[in-house]
Amino acid sequence: MDFLLTEEQRMIGETARKVGDRFGLEYWRELDAAKAFPGEFWKAVCEAGLCGVALPTEYGGSGLGMIEMALIVEALSASGGGSTVGQLFMINPIFGGVSIAKFGTPAMKRELLPRIISGEINCCMALTEPDAGSNSLEIQTFAARHGNGWRLNGRKIWITGVESAEKMLVIARTSKVQDVKRRTEGLSMFLVDVRRKGLSYSSIEKLGTNTLSSCSVFFEDVDVSGDELVGTLDGGWYELLDVLNTERIVTTAGLVGAAELAFRIAVDYAKERRVFGGRPIGEYQGIQFPLAQSFAEVECARLMNHKAASLFDRGLPYGTEANVAKLIASQGASNGIEHAMQTLGGMGFAKETHLERLWRDARLFRFAPISEQMILNFIAMQNLGLPRSY
Ligand SMILES: Cc1cc2nc3c(=O)[nH]c(=O)nc-3n(C[C@H](O)[C@H](O)[C@H](O)COP(=O)(O)OP(=O)(O)OC[C@H]3O[C@@H](n4cnc5c(N)ncnc54)[C@H](O)[C@@H]3O)c2cc1C
Repeated sequence: MDFLLTEEQRMIGETARKVGDRFGLEYWRELDAAKAFPGEFWKAVCEAGLCGVALPTEYGGSGLGMIEMALIVEALSASGGGSTVGQLFMINPIFGGVSIAKFGTPAMKRELLPRIISGEINCCMALTEPDAGSNSLEIQTFAARHGNGWRLNGRKIWITGVESAEKMLVIARTSKVQDVKRRTEGLSMFLVDVRRKGLSYSSIEKLGTNTLSSCSVFFEDVDVSGDELVGTLDGGWYELLDVLNTERIVTTAGLVGAAELAFRIAVDYAKERRVFGGRPIGEYQGIQFPLAQSFAEVECARLMNHKAASLFDRGLPYGTEANVAKLIASQGASNGIEHAMQTLGGMGFAKETHLERLWRDARLFRFAPISEQMILNFIAMQNLGLPRSY
């Protein structure tokens, strides 16, 4: 067991930090207010070779691992972007990159991986439906056989990054529930063009993560060609889970970086701000303890996330570690950013100190991409051996 990063890993983290520092907090504040996609930032990330870090070298990636990707997301998030940086990595190198690299056809890999890695195209992923949230196996979107391909009908909700994406990874039923033995059968993944006849979307007003819009998506007789299937027809469920567990790793890394940034802002302020008797407020234990408690939780999440990433990179099961890390990170970061806001008093409420953005954004990850309760259900069954409660 070796807890030390290699020299190469330290340098990758340092490179990411430098890229992030070129943008800084004001850049993100302006984009948040404008509800605009961070295109320039993503271009810089891709030009520095950071998007493709865990993707195959023959398509322009670096062929390194998920641990390097976690370090990059932590550093970029801590430099100003906050937890939404995790989502940017989620939609592109994970939903686009990992799904194609693991399950795509050779033609998909040749055509799309270099374009995702260079930042030429963006991706998104459509699983959630209005009547099937946490219970993903209830999805109704259906791809019916049509000529050599399929015809897609249905509705999705909360799909992130649609407006800036060229490709959408869609999860649909390809066999009716009554025609399969288990509900986990009969699901498939497709990679379709966002701007295709019959596919429409409308943006949802929301609390935070404003730089990445989230949309309702409608499929009305959308034609999908035979070569747009990703992975196994009717056998997509377990392949999708393999993709989604890597999503947890970048989510956690984004939260760890966001908390690191919030602690830095709070500590800088607490060392300077004097209220009673000329002593800086940072000398009070009432200010120190909540921040120290959250720091401890976030560091545990970071370590568990690195373990999940290392297991993934060695081809070993990593679902428990990825979910445990995400659970603790979402709580630790939300609480930590809340304590950071409290440290700044009224100024924590001001846009100019950036904490309110970090606070709004981090709140999302207590219920997405998987909720705390569903992770606890998973741990109760998988790790404790308790019966299924739902
Ligand atoms: C901003 C945003 C971006 C998103 N981006 C995407 C995206 O890009 N692609 C995509 O496919 N989806 C996306 N989602 C959807 C997200 O993954 C879901 O919101 C999440 O999985 C929870 O589903 P739900 O909202 O339907 O909640 P529900 O499933 O309705 O759950 C509501 C509450 O009930 C609890 N609950 C439900 N079942 C149980 C149970 N058995 N035991 C205990 N508690 C339970 C949940 O934990 C939750 O607290 C996004 C959501 C948001 C808000």
